[in-house]
Amino acid sequence: MKTRFAPSPTGYIHIGNVRSAIYPYLIARQQHGTFILRIEDTDQSRYVEGATELIEDTLNWLGLEWDEGPIVGGPATPYFQSERKAIYHAWAEKLIAAGRAYADPTSPDQIQVYRDQCQASGQPFLYRNFRPENPPAWHPGLPLRFKSDPKPRKWHDVVMGDLSAGPEVQDDIILIKADGLPTYNFAHIVDDSEMGVTHVIRGVEYLSSVPNYLALYEALGLPVPVLVSLPHILGPTGTKKLSKRDNAKSVTGYREDGILPEAMLNYLACLGWNDGTEQEIYTKDELIARFSLERIQTSGARFDETKLLWQNGQWIRKLVQEQGVETFYPRTESFWPGSAASATPEYRQQVLGIIYDRLKTLSDLRTMTGYFFADPEIDLTMITDNKFLKRFSESELSQLLQTAADRLDQSAWDADSLQATLNQLLADTGKKPAELFSIIRIALSFAPFSPALHLTLNVLGRSTSLARLRRVITALENA
Ligand code: GLU
Repeated sequence: MKTRFAPSPTGYIHIGNVRSAIYPYLIARQQHGTFILRIEDTDQSRYVEGATELIEDTLNWLGLEWDEGPIVGGPATPYFQSERKAIYHAWAEKLIAAGRAYADPTSPDQIQVYRDQCQASGQPFLYRNFRPENPPAWHPGLPLRFKSDPKPRKWHDVVMGDLSAGPEVQDDIILIKADGLPTYNFAHIVDDSEMGVTHVIRGVEYLSSVPNYLALYEALGLPVPVLVSLPHILGPTGTKKLSKRDNAKSVTGYREDGILPEAMLNYLACLGWNDGTEQEIYTKDELIARFSLERIQTSGARFDETKLLWQNGQWIRKLVQEQGVETFYPRTESFWPGSAASATPEYRQQVLGIIYDRLKTLSDLRTMTGYFFADPEIDLTMITDNKFLKRFSESELSQLLQTAADRLDQSAWDADSLQATLNQLLADTGKKPAELFSIIRIALSFAPFSPALHLTLNVLGRSTSLARLRRVITALENA
């Protein structure tokens, strides 16, 4: 089995693009086959500096290593279509010699006239009805067209099943453009054949062109590979194709937000495929073992960012628990708030160790951990408006904090003794946990949330914790 990922380097990696890499990768690994990376860069008007590197970097990040392609090379080198011109021209010459391709001198204006004529008479426009009678010899500057052989065609698509199409969808498509570079339609057929690709796995948007491709395979005398069409990825409403307007980020955008590659791979692999079980978290090895082309769904798959974030949270938890905080920590390094810069790695690891199970993305560290590194600004309304605290007067609240501070000061200040002190405080003050713990939590953090209180106190340390409680006591007294 040989599969390939054949992206066009546009500088932007859409979520759907990556899924078109994941499925061919998984099945190739499962079958001990070959996974090829081919760069489809024949559209020079869309050339973007650095776009190929972005593709390579994204595949590396996701752990989708390719066996043949840029950097690693392989028997069909080069793997950039822009460097394979001679190969396409050789195949084009064969078609010309066989009378199956012709140079097209028709000007775009003339084509428009034909189109208008068809529209006026209610006929569909088909290029083959306007073939030039005596085409000139093919030379640079003229596009080369396929001389189609329209007839009923039947084929099988692993996902979409048995399909057929009539002659009306087959036409004289362009093989080589006026600039000498091939079209996708021609180049991918030549390349898949030259590279020995056995399974063409790509988006369903190419399905309507398959009748033309079948005609080309036939004219070129090439076997048709196994065809696999991946369903569309739909936007959040589940009715339309996912588009930039849906605010779905590029893969790079999610990566910058602190989505882990494990989660991205997991999420996208399951977007349009399932193994029939309820399992939601899969490692790469599990995906390789379980994946099957037959279980790719035919209908569109809805992109659900909430689910991606949930899965990412699960992955953060899983990896920290499996590897330990210290091993996981380097992955978080660029995601801490600015105020963490002067803290030691050991301290940041302690913070990570008590907060990791609340993170959805690594960039949550930036918004959720500030108070571990710098004293938060006092905002008394967070206390006085708190639903558990608003029935107490300011002096009652400052009294309560004073009691808490005095007792905590006697604690040995480790997680267990802090927990015991807090429990004792509850019993002694007769306050509800929500009341007592809320006021201490807010006084320490002025944040909407913090990890378990005894752990937060433990990481902040005795002097910082007590100083923070005392400045709030003073503020409440002066309020
Ligand atoms: N270059 C095409 C794209 O980026 C590839 C389609 C295919 O996989 O054949 O959409």
